[in-house]
Amino acid sequence: MNLCPKCGRSPWPFVMVLAMATFTAFITWITLGLSVDETAPRAIASGVVFLAVGGTLLHYVLGCLRRHCRHGKENPLEARLRRAAHGHHH
Ligand SMILES: [Zn+2]
Repeated sequence: MNLCPKCGRSPWPFVMVLAMATFTAFITWITLGLSVDETAPRAIASGVVFLAVGGTLLHYVLGCLRRHCRHGKENPLEARLRRAAHGHHH
């Protein structure tokens, strides 16, 4: 992970990702229970949903943290973006 130390220390974005992935997987489990009687396909589908949702949200959250980092010089990407926004070209 290339987050700055301050952003990387906060567990809350990751707790949220985990909670939402778990919730979505749980909904999938309940919904499949209406039409599928076997446990294995339900468990596999719920697992796939958990990984897909968790992966997508994690990717989004990490991108968001990186972009909104305001902790200064330890984030070279942000410095580059700020330079680009101010219109300095070589
Ligand atoms: Zn930061």
